Amino acid sequence: MAKNYAVMNLGTFQQDLAVKGRVMAGADLGLTGCEISFNHTPAGQFTPFVHTHKLNEEVYIVIAGKGAFMVDGEEFAIREGSVIRVAPAGERAIKAGPDGLTHICIQAQAGSLTQATRDDGVISESKASWMKEA
Ligand code: ZN
Repeated sequence: MAKNYAVMNLGTFQQDLAVKGRVMAGADLGLTGCEISFNHTPAGQFTPFVHTHKLNEEVYIVIAGKGAFMVDGEEFAIREGSVIRVAPAGERAIKAGPDGLTHICIQAQAGSLTQATRDDGVISESKASWMKEA
């Protein structure tokens, strides 16, 4: 029977991810409803094209560094803690600042989420070892 989970270890975002540049997690984790990429853009570098998507919205989560983001010609500064959602049709581009930029990008089909955690979660009877009384 297939396990109900998958684990991958990326190493440290600051060192290991900087070497790899980009790691797509979808295939390794067996994702079926979204794609997740982990990205490190070296200082001053940028993706050399503007792009849109056919079906997917994207959420960019900056986890280290600073940089610039552009959507539909509007440019703005981003930094650790910035979270940007871009609709499929949004023409987007990203650039790292002088210290580089590390971000997570999650893409999922726009409009596909029919319910979120509060309605979808179901509390189980099972206990994790740390929940059991001594
Ligand atoms: Zn994209």
